[in-house]
Formats: sequence, structure tokens, C-alpha cells
Amino acid sequence: MRIVDVILKKRNNIPLTNEEIHFVIDGYVKGDIPDYQISALLMAICFNGLNTEEQVSLTKEMLESGEQVDLSNIKGICVDKHSTGGVGDKTTLVVGPLFASCGLVLAKMSGRGLGHTGGTLDKLESIPNFSIDISSEDFYKQVNDINIAVIGQTANITPADKKLYALRDVTGTVDSIGLIASSIMSKKLASGAQSIILDVKVGDGAFMKNVHQAKELANAMINIGKSYNRNMIVVLSDMEQPLGNMVGNSIEVIEAIETLKGRGPESFRNFCFDLVAEMLVETKVCESKEKALDLIKQKIESKEALNKLREMIIYQHGDPRVIDDYSLFPQAKNKIPVISEEEGYVERLNALEVGVGAMMLGAGRENKNDIIDLAVGIEVIKKVGDYVNKGDVLAYLYSNGKNEQQVYQKVLNGYKIVKEKVEKSKLILEVIK
Ligand code: URA
Repeated sequence: MRIVDVILKKRNNIPLTNEEIHFVIDGYVKGDIPDYQISALLMAICFNGLNTEEQVSLTKEMLESGEQVDLSNIKGICVDKHSTGGVGDKTTLVVGPLFASCGLVLAKMSGRGLGHTGGTLDKLESIPNFSIDISSEDFYKQVNDINIAVIGQTANITPADKKLYALRDVTGTVDSIGLIASSIMSKKLASGAQSIILDVKVGDGAFMKNVHQAKELANAMINIGKSYNRNMIVVLSDMEQPLGNMVGNSIEVIEAIETLKGRGPESFRNFCFDLVAEMLVETKVCESKEKALDLIKQKIESKEALNKLREMIIYQHGDPRVIDDYSLFPQAKNKIPVISEEEGYVERLNALEVGVGAMMLGAGRENKNDIIDLAVGIEVIKKVGDYVNKGDVLAYLYSNGKNEQQVYQKVLNGYKIVKEKVEKSKLILEVIK
């Protein structure tokens, strides 16, 4: 087989066989096929797509290129949760402890943030001494003891995806439904959970810019998951504006803790509860969504969910006192209000502007090895549908002096204020199973 023939075939929009996909991935991982030929193939895929069989085959090759986490010795129903990445997305920090308190098991390997989207690992590291780097042995023990662990990747999972993703990132070939679905699902399947909930973000701050695209991605991932007998739920959620109010690291953890205390922004709280309820029904822990929501309410009121987070912090060597004393988190020196120059309803709050703004303050990385400032970030006070007077605070910048003026302007430009009344936007756009 010759790689050039595979490229020509895809360029001519003819589906590739399992053997051809195996040849490509195996050859690329071994270094027998160079980047420039894989780049050409990826571009042809971006133009002509991958059918379901090709997606399943590509997922299989990437999955089998590395180790797979074995959760068969874990007691209980192992679940996993993944988001396609957004601004202010601290959902795992709320949903994980809730799963655990309801008897489900979350053994999760998370990622770091890159660009305008944050990463759960960075957020967790704002808890003093918290370790995301624990041995496999301790990871399995922790999961069996307390039903939850969120750590960095230990096993050598899907090296083919790692290599391909890095190439896609620099060749303009990230944006393909088939490639994204195979990439995400290969990692989820390698992580070993039986039931998977995927949160596909839709809007300006996300990969999927509209619901049509997001549905296509959702169905592609469901088909791949089902071909591996996994229970799949995909939630399409709005990412036109940031999720919750806080965008950063320590400030997002504080918002997650507040939510576990039954407070926090109402829309974010309901969003988390809905995700957990969907999973409780899917795994048959509860027989209806109403019963699931009752159970969740009970786990919040009794503080069992909050205590799961506390236990996780203790097991991972962090300082659990942060739960009751937020001054123990890294603190930014300046709190700068962003003031409205107009009066009216917020029609638009651009998640991308806020995400990039937080990154410019130091909360995120432009490049993989950048060091981030865990204390800084942005708190949005006014969101879509809110009424604003001239002189009102739209948002606060928590800053240590970096790029303050530019970020101030960026956040201000992220708001569109109009005279006519604007409805508050829905967070969950659709649930697909
Ligand atoms: N996230 C992934 O893991 N892979 C993609 O291709 C896109 C988003």
C-alpha cells in the first residue's frame, strides 16, 4: 500500500477501508509516514469528511495505539464526563462530587487549558498543595475509597491522537466533525468508563459555532460510543456567553464550591444538576429525572456532595480548609470594575472576548509551556437579558497588573447593549441519546 494512493482516494471522495486507516495511523505513529503526507490527507478529510465506518475505524486505531485504563476492579458504576471546551467551564468540579455522593464513580483524567478555554487541572491546582499527579495505585485506591479522583493523564493514552492533534492544530485541520469525534471518543473509550456524558458547547466561544454542526458531532460520537457498547448522552449547551460568572482558575473553584453549597449562579447550578440527573437516569440509579433532581437536592442540602469535594482534596494532598476560607486561595492584587457606558439590555456577551481577556490577564496559556497566574480572571456581573444602567459594573477584572487596559476594552467590547428587552438565553439547547 502507498500513502499517496490513500491521499488521492480521499481527495476523490472515496471512503477508506479499515486496512487503509490502519496503514495510515500505524505508519504515522511509527514515523514511517511523514507529517506532510498526513497533513495532505487531513486536509482531504476536512473537505470530504469521514463516514461512520471510517470514524469507527479511525477511533479504533487511535484507541489501540496506546494503553487503556482498566476500571474492571472498581466497585460501582463508572461514569465519565467530557466537555468540548468552553469559557468558565468548571462543571466537572460540581458534577464530579455530585456523581460520587449519589453512588456513581468518576475516575477522571483531565486536561490543562490552552488558548481561551480553561482546563480542570489548572483550576484544581489553585487549591494549595493539590496534586494532580498521583500514582496509578493511589488513583485506584482513592476511587474505590471515595468514588472520585480527578488527575492528570498517567497512562500513555491514545498517542496517535496526541500526534495527530498537534499536527491538526498547525495545519488548519482541527475543524472536521469526523476528526473531532474520533479524537474525543478514542480518549473517552481509553479512559474505561461504561457511561459517558458529553457536553458539546455551541456558540462563539466553542468549536461548534451552530446547533446544526453540534448535532452532527453529537450523533457521530454517539454512534462511535454505541459501537463499543457504551451508554452515551450528549448535551448541547450554549457557549455564546461564559458559563457561570467566573472565568479564571481559583475564582472558578470558588464558584464551584459555592454551587456545591447550594448557592452560585442559578443557571450554572441548574445546568450541573441537569447533567447529573441525566446520568442518574441513564445508569438506572433513579427511575425518572424528577426523582434524580430530588436526590441531587438532598445531596446538596445534606452537604454530602460538598464533602465529596473535601475528601477528594484531602486524598490529593490539597488544603481542605479552602472550602470554608476562600482567602487561602491565591489572591489577585487588583479588582477593577468594567463600567457600562450605555443603558439597556445585554443582548450579547461574547464568550471568546472574555476567554481571551482572562488569558491575557494571565489565567490561560497562549503556548503550551506558559506559566499561568492562578489568582487572576474575570467575573461577569451582567449577562444576556440583564438590564444595565450607564455607570453600572458589567464585570470585574481580577488582575496582577498584566494587560489591564487592553483587557478592560476587550470585555467592554464583548458586551452588546440594546434598547429592546432581551430574553435570558437557555443553557441546555438539547439532550441527545
Ligand atoms: N478536543 C479533542 O480532544 N479533539 C478534537 O479534535 C477537538 C477537541
